[in-house]
Amino acid sequence: MAVTGMESMIAAVDIGGTRTRVGLFREGELVSRASFPTEGLREVVRALRELLRRAGVRPASIGVAAPAPLDMRRGVVLNCPNLPHWHGVRVVEELTAEFGCEVYLANDATCAAIGELEFGHRARDFVYITWSTGIGGGIVSGGRVVWGKDGQAGEVGHMVLVPQGPHCRCGKRGCLEALASGTGIARAARELLGEELTAAEVVERAREGDHTAQRIISRACEALGQGIGVLWEVVEPEMIVLGGGLTRSWDYLGPMVVSAAREFARTPPRVELTPLGDDVGLYGASALHRHLSYFR
Ligand SMILES: [Zn+2]
Repeated sequence: MAVTGMESMIAAVDIGGTRTRVGLFREGELVSRASFPTEGLREVVRALRELLRRAGVRPASIGVAAPAPLDMRRGVVLNCPNLPHWHGVRVVEELTAEFGCEVYLANDATCAAIGELEFGHRARDFVYITWSTGIGGGIVSGGRVVWGKDGQAGEVGHMVLVPQGPHCRCGKRGCLEALASGTGIARAARELLGEELTAAEVVERAREGDHTAQRIISRACEALGQGIGVLWEVVEPEMIVLGGGLTRSWDYLGPMVVSAAREFARTPPRVELTPLGDDVGLYGASALHRHLSYFR
């Protein structure tokens, strides 16, 4: 197939803790997608090639959302504690060499915030929180992404809420992530129920009336509500937007989170779920190039 005259589309990649998503966008519309269990960069390249081949297009650019910590200036994913294939991977350099187009890389939760900004509620001032295996975040103020000095701003999961609380994978104790993430819930279940359960399974046990599971879940929801209350006071957003796997049980968890958030803020925080669901990071990665000029 000749390259000249072939349509080009923006490609997006979202490397998640458990699944990786790839997608193709035409004028802001997700027209083709695939997802698979997260492995390494080779699998990303293979999935992107397959998607492009099936659509018969070439990539105009590629936006990549990856878990922190990463070096945005060099385009490198540094060392994800939970992802063994992603230590020191030169994502921008390698994908540029593979596909011959511009490649952009940013923190996954910041990408999700960009997705929300451009395709979700489109609020000008909000904090996005991923409530999933881990807890990440992104801040948008006055319609602009708050990047911070090195592009790592908005790491809300590592706000310490309970000094001397449970150990966090970051090395500190009592972080929001240690208290309320899927990993934190699973660890509490291991300690208090003596079983290996996923966070979703603990939620189910709680729904079914298991008192210990209910205590684990209500503690996690209280911690998240506390974090939301703090962010509400510090950022003065229009809303706090949540996404991530645990929000699938929002009918059960939401009321607990919102009532805790009210306890920790002077005015009732407005909490919304992203309408983009699991694709929020992909949407943001597709629009990433438009927001990097603010990152110096
Ligand atoms: Zn931490």
